[in-house]
Amino acid sequence: MIMNDLKPIFADVDSSRPLLIAGPCSAETEEQVMTTAHALAREGVQIFRAGVWKPRTKPGGFEGVGEPGLAWLRRVKAETGMYTATEVATRAHVEAALRYEVDLLWIGARTAANPFAMQEIADALQGVDVPVLVKNPVSPDLELWIGALERIYNAGIRRLGAVHRGFTWVDRSIYRNHPFWTIPIELRRRIPGLPLFCDPSHIGGKRELIAPLAQQAMDLGFEGLLVEAHCSPDEAWSDKAQQVEPQLLAFILRNLIIRDMNTTTDNLNELRRQIDKLDDELIDLLARRMKVSGEIGRYKKEHNLSVLQSQRYEEILARRARQAVELGMDREFMRSVMQAIHEESIRQQMKVIE
Ligand code: PEP
Ligand code: MN
Repeated sequence: MIMNDLKPIFADVDSSRPLLIAGPCSAETEEQVMTTAHALAREGVQIFRAGVWKPRTKPGGFEGVGEPGLAWLRRVKAETGMYTATEVATRAHVEAALRYEVDLLWIGARTAANPFAMQEIADALQGVDVPVLVKNPVSPDLELWIGALERIYNAGIRRLGAVHRGFTWVDRSIYRNHPFWTIPIELRRRIPGLPLFCDPSHIGGKRELIAPLAQQAMDLGFEGLLVEAHCSPDEAWSDKAQQVEPQLLAFILRNLIIRDMNTTTDNLNELRRQIDKLDDELIDLLARRMKVSGEIGRYKKEHNLSVLQSQRYEEILARRARQAVELGMDREFMRSVMQAIHEESIRQQMKVIE
């Protein structure tokens, strides 16, 4: 689905800078919400977030203050002029948030993973004009994310955006949720007009990672950021390690380098031509390599040898990874390239043998 009739999230918010949504993970008390909101407004933030219903992995944690929090958001809007945003996960949440005139709704990662919940929310949004952001589902599954976005789009929502907040992954890493940047990049290719937001707080899971992740998102041309900020982060009732004080957030944002994604100079065009030419050569080389694999397949068939010869494969991987490091490339990168090439070679050989 192309979605080529999307509208700006907020037409009156300057779009030459990344659209920034900031505020605490959770609305905890009226005082915490108001103090954080005033501090953010002083720093020039125009859209304020706070979760009033919190999806928790296990029962018994702080599950949000519920409807009273919506009244605090209304007060934030009245006193600071900021737009407000909250997470919705059910029809009742949508209806309550709209009753309190929350300006933007987002759908959390756990909800986005559930088509029943997504459809219920979409049905509740039918005929309503409110901006909606859909976070990526917890699993690295682009189709599930696109499906969730399509349900909201099909309900008639045209102020729509996607939030990249990282994915649950089995490998330990420095991130709380692994970014897998290729997934949002592929989403951009599939739905080019859809604004992309990055949530560096939930990807990183710690304060120190907000700046580098936000910068990466800017370098990739994301349109906005969703960041957690709290008046006293160390006392936050949820996600304390990843929240920052409003002033620190403002400092981080002032230091972001915003690159111009649209103007391409002649120089850049020339470099891109070089890349295209090298890619042509790469593909041609790969095709030639596959032909040789086919020959090997035929030889193995004639001599009744097995297709997979793991010792030889291990040697290739190790040798090429070493060579790559000598040439300034990453070892793991080269191992995955060689693995992908090997997989295709095996497929070519199997074709010959069948
Ligand atoms: C949040 O934004 O506080 C939140 C719960 O995020 P996610 O759905 O990305 O886990
Ligand atoms: Mn949070």
